[in-house]
Amino acid sequence: MKPQTPAQGISIDQEWNDAIAYNIECDCGSDDHSIKMWIEVTGEADIRDVEVSFYVQTHTENTWSSWPNRLRAIWDILFHGMHKQEHHMLLTRQGAVNLATAITQTVKRLEKTTK
Ligand SMILES: [Zn+2]
Repeated sequence: MKPQTPAQGISIDQEWNDAIAYNIECDCGSDDHSIKMWIEVTGEADIRDVEVSFYVQTHTENTWSSWPNRLRAIWDILFHGMHKQEHHMLLTRQGAVNLATAITQTVKRLEKTTK
């Protein structure tokens, strides 16, 4: 399976000299499941690190039965300063290939433009 151009499931949101932001769509079609991926080449000239950030919006059910989970989240954040959540999204096989290729090509491109 070869990467596509334009690519199914992934699109460039914004570009800068040292970073590119992508929108990654969930194959189920819900905008609530999409994520934003930010790839940035950082570090010293001789040691090039790649920082990949994912911006995700998570949701909890809005039912009475979800209140214990919501209260647990409040407790975790208030007294432990953290709360663990999960986010799942669907990718077609083609979408997964496109995502992997986007990461690989972005790193190569940013390494050239940030020398
Ligand atoms: Zn979805």
